[in-house]
Amino acid sequence: MNVVVVGGGVAGIVAALDCVAAGATVTLVEVRPRLGGAAYSVRGDDFWIDNGQHVFLRCCPAYRGLLAKLGSESLVELQPRLDIPVLAPGRPPARLRRSGARPPLHLAGALLRYSHLSLRERISAGRAALALGRQPLDDSRTLGDWLAEHGQSPRAIAALWDLIALPTLNLPAAEASLALGAFVFQQGLLGDAAAGDVGLHRAPLQQIIGDPAARALARAGVTVHLRWPAQRVTSIGGRFAVVGANSWIGADAVVIAVPHDRAAALLPATALHGAAWPGALESSPIVNLHLVYDRRVFEHRFAAGVDTPVQYLFDRTPPEWTERQYLAVSLSGARAQMGMSTAALRERYVAAIAELLPGAREARVESFSATKEHAATFRAVPGTAALRPAAATAVEGLVLAGAWTATGWPATLESAALSGHAAAEVLLAQR
Ligand SMILES: Cc1cc2nc3c(=O)[nH]c(=O)nc-3n(C[C@H](O)[C@H](O)[C@H](O)COP(=O)(O)OP(=O)(O)OC[C@H]3O[C@@H](n4cnc5c(N)ncnc54)[C@H](O)[C@@H]3O)c2cc1C
Repeated sequence: MNVVVVGGGVAGIVAALDCVAAGATVTLVEVRPRLGGAAYSVRGDDFWIDNGQHVFLRCCPAYRGLLAKLGSESLVELQPRLDIPVLAPGRPPARLRRSGARPPLHLAGALLRYSHLSLRERISAGRAALALGRQPLDDSRTLGDWLAEHGQSPRAIAALWDLIALPTLNLPAAEASLALGAFVFQQGLLGDAAAGDVGLHRAPLQQIIGDPAARALARAGVTVHLRWPAQRVTSIGGRFAVVGANSWIGADAVVIAVPHDRAAALLPATALHGAAWPGALESSPIVNLHLVYDRRVFEHRFAAGVDTPVQYLFDRTPPEWTERQYLAVSLSGARAQMGMSTAALRERYVAAIAELLPGAREARVESFSATKEHAATFRAVPGTAALRPAAATAVEGLVLAGAWTATGWPATLESAALSGHAAAEVLLAQR
């Protein structure tokens, strides 16, 4: 069987590796000059910048399985126990750190000691967490509505619940679907005690995903065409033609593994079969800020912020630097920041970091840049579950993959990897 995979992000890479492992002849086409899709790096002056800080959890077996296959495990680190320092201006940091107890008790101590909320708010948050652990996945309302109904004040939502909702759902609780919100809390925090231990990429993403994937695909015998924009897929008597700018490739089967806002344009009308998703799944942006200080100003690997515009802060200093420090600020659901100029972002966030980190007040910012991804993920609002298609389309041999397809997960590396496996499985079962 000849398979063409369109799109060289995590979903396409996983689908291609699965298909070739099952004996198919696989060609992967990717419009950009590199693999890795939405998780990539660009070169700064004398260091690498990731387009976005990517975090994963222990409960991401499909993504972690890919890292193992790519030989990249040594370039990531997984916390032995969930531990998130939470900084606020002018107050001592708090820590959301799990214990070794069984769930839900593993988080009880962290919650009771969480000094950014009043004792009453902490107890109320504990009760709401227990209820959320049993909550059916309801996609008709927002997580924020549900939290308010369960006694969570706007303060508790901003200082606790959004610390998890924003980076995982790429929306604040007020806008995010309860189904996806409840899924994240159940999967990551309220089920297995170790599930929420945080995984961090220690090297540039390109060196962890894209480049090793290119090597692994080549070793497995997959032909990869970079800078190859697929323009449409046509179906002719049970076979397919993937049409590019200057050539086409014939195939027995095709995996479309492009972002949600690109997929519909590639597919033959018969494959869409009245599907609701083209155009209906909207996008949510992520903005990352990259600051190089002339000295060390931040002592943690990463930290969250409350009462500050800084959502998450990461130390991404290259190991060879002895004095300077490179900090990345990650801003999810960043509609407002998308419209701000680099100068305005600099003015706002350099001041905000100085409020959080006393050491930054005297330090000089040697460089500042912003990376903006306007369609970082689909917009995980209520009603999206019905808009996420399964891997199989109405045309046999033509399947979909991508973090946005119906994996049950929010748009994450894990969702992308799961979707790649699902697409390959459907295809291999059909042929
Ligand atoms: C800034 C940012 C931060 C993020 N943070 C996290 C995080 O902390 N944790 C987490 O788990 N996830 C995070 N994500 C989400 C995660 O990166 C994505 O969910 C995942 O990488 C999507 O993989 P994919 O393969 O489904 O799609 P993509 O990575 O989008 O891959 C699709 C590929 O298709 C290619 N393509 C498009 N059109 C064509 C065409 N016509 N022909 C050929 N190729 C085409 C694209 O160039 C792309 O390479 C983040 C995303 C961003 C942008």
